[in-house]
Amino acid sequence: MPSKVFYGSARQALLEARETLPAKLDLILEQLNLRERVKNERVVIKMHTANNIGYSTIHPVFVRKVVQAIKDGGGKPFVADVPWDAAGAEMRGYSSEVLGCPVYPTSGPDEKYSYAHKRPYKNIQEWHVAGMIEDASFLVDFAHVKGHPTCGFGGALKNIALGCMASATRGQMHDTMHYDPYWEPEKCSDPEKIKAIAAACPFEAIVEDHKLPGHMHLHIEQCNQCRRCLKVAPKGSLKIQAVNFHTFMEACAIAVSEVLSTFEAAKVVHLSLASFMTPLCDCFGFTTMPILPDAGIFGSDDIVAIDQAALDIIARTPLIEENIPLAMEIHFRDGHPFRQLFGPYKDPYVMTEYAEKYGLGCRDYELVDVFPLVKPERAALPYTSST
Ligand code: SF4
Repeated sequence: MPSKVFYGSARQALLEARETLPAKLDLILEQLNLRERVKNERVVIKMHTANNIGYSTIHPVFVRKVVQAIKDGGGKPFVADVPWDAAGAEMRGYSSEVLGCPVYPTSGPDEKYSYAHKRPYKNIQEWHVAGMIEDASFLVDFAHVKGHPTCGFGGALKNIALGCMASATRGQMHDTMHYDPYWEPEKCSDPEKIKAIAAACPFEAIVEDHKLPGHMHLHIEQCNQCRRCLKVAPKGSLKIQAVNFHTFMEACAIAVSEVLSTFEAAKVVHLSLASFMTPLCDCFGFTTMPILPDAGIFGSDDIVAIDQAALDIIARTPLIEENIPLAMEIHFRDGHPFRQLFGPYKDPYVMTEYAEKYGLGCRDYELVDVFPLVKPERAALPYTSST
């Protein structure tokens, strides 16, 4: 059976407050029965409070509405983010005075508060779920939708996958991308050739490995799979292959599975705001121009369905190419806009496929528009000259 995803379009028909995104969030919270579900619950609102001078994360107006709804329902809310972002959150407007609840670091100020979950995957043996997350009894996963250099897309899954893990596990999750070998040094022992391969990459994504002489290191975040390096590399020495890209997405699905296992199924709600969608994630410490038109706001009990629905709505619109930083390039035109920007192995749908495989939800969904647009009727306009 398809999962319900409640949706409010970013577009308005009339110039009225009730047609704007914060008002549509209110309607979504009602549809999700949030107030009725949180009585006496210790509710963590996991969101990204950005870093440094980033300003494109979820505006406090939206967060305050969620906080108030939880308080109205008799719950005890707090906002949580990874410690290095929570530490400066008030500089970006996320203070207890503004939000109406405290902002805590997910795993304590020193990243030392977490719970170990044994589950071997590639280089990871234990997953350390942040203590403030696991201690909560109810989770509101409030994601800002945007692009992501490692997996093409950051939404509800990504907000939990990285945002609810302690630092050591977040690092290990990124290391999964290097678990499967992509460089065979015996097929390229010429130091000049190694330099030439590195020089062929316009993004400094493939470099000499300074810890391992004779080896090359692929910075997957920077690689858009353009394959310029493969034209220079001796046959078979270097592989640009899906497995190195997809392991991170599979690791994200596993991380979400471990986090959600600490909550009762009915005590998790997902919200996603798809506005001001930048190419990079919110931890970069700055904001670039939005690369897609605003899509809207989403709410669901199903973390897979909400990401799938957001991706599908975004797929209806083209990239705003004049806003794409010049350091990036679009070298092919197939599929989802995020896929066009980040390359075929960073297809944003891959993470939802893994998440469904791990039983986290359903990619089949029913979209319920909480405020369908009604086009104003106007009489036909007679021809008028512009002069
Ligand atoms: S595929 Fe393109 S972006 Fe990736 S390392 Fe090779 S040259 Fe660089």
